Amino acid sequence: MSRFFSEKYKELEPYVPGEQPRERKFIKLNTNESPFPPSPLAQRMAREEAGILQLYSDPSCRSLVLAAANCLGVEENQVIFTNGSDDILNFAFMAFSDAGHPVVFPDITYGFYPVFAKLNNIPYETIPLREDFTINVEDYIGIGKNIFIANPNAPTGIALPLCDIERIVASNPDNVVVIDEAYVDFGGESAIGLIDKYKNLLVTQTFSKSRSLAGARLGMGFACSELIQDLETVRYSTNPYNINRMTMAAGVGALTDKEYFIECTSKIRATRERISKKLKEMGFFMTESRSNFIFAAHPAISGLDTYLKLKDMGILVRHFETPRLKNYNRITVGSDAEMDALCDALAEILKAPNPAERTDL
Ligand code: PMP
Repeated sequence: MSRFFSEKYKELEPYVPGEQPRERKFIKLNTNESPFPPSPLAQRMAREEAGILQLYSDPSCRSLVLAAANCLGVEENQVIFTNGSDDILNFAFMAFSDAGHPVVFPDITYGFYPVFAKLNNIPYETIPLREDFTINVEDYIGIGKNIFIANPNAPTGIALPLCDIERIVASNPDNVVVIDEAYVDFGGESAIGLIDKYKNLLVTQTFSKSRSLAGARLGMGFACSELIQDLETVRYSTNPYNINRMTMAAGVGALTDKEYFIECTSKIRATRERISKKLKEMGFFMTESRSNFIFAAHPAISGLDTYLKLKDMGILVRHFETPRLKNYNRITVGSDAEMDALCDALAEILKAPNPAERTDL
């Protein structure tokens, strides 16, 4: 740390992204990317923009706004685009919360929420999930604080039904409720349909998972026009050109190519179900995932050991060494071939004479 680093950031612990190894080729099941390339239309449209990158991108993101209005059935003034959904989540903390408007979110959820809260000097509380990792909806009814809920949640993959989301939003009319739908396209119920009814609801989504554009960095938010305007004020005050030309074009292509989107998300859901069944037969237990990852543990071997042995064998999964998560690993649903390789590797690990005995079950 330099002596110039601002006092206000000295205690900041940055978010730790999943490993992006370069030293060796891994089967990468650790950052919930799609195993499929972007839609051919998205690729073509992005390539066409490459030749005019000398020009700034359109700060109003007009082409994307129109594509979202056409493809997702929202009004043009009910949507905003950002550099990944991390960006809009940060904007939501900046725009709606401060010392007098604190935030709550589950104790186990997306690890960026506490980082954004600290970055923006916003007090926050966490609400423990139940023992089985489900959210107790009653905990959020009329809580009178701004709320962030990932639905489906991460890293558990568990989804709340839309009626529960609506109860939470309806019971906190004077607070903003942010529903982070990064994984909704793999089996959750979206709350976008509620934005006309509730002026305090912001729904965020990403192109990183179901639309195969993690490397392009594109996220979107849906809300009533007033909330969107507030977020636009923050966006224009930080970086109005936050979406580059190639990403904007790729995003339009990805939204337009509905067939490809359905094909990819259906394949991932089918693979998730097939592999979950296989893992259960091997003795793993897991949460009911509505996402593009499986959150699994095994009674005979610790989460850390599983992670390390898989890594040795060239397969990367995500491990969190925290008290409630350390038995588990979060395994991205990859291609069928990648997931078969994972199952073979796990079978081999479990066959070893002395899998580290767990004492905590
Ligand atoms: N929300 C959740 C729950 C996530 O897991 C992620 C991905 N790490 C994001 C938001 C952000 O994704 P991106 O910035 O790639 O849109």
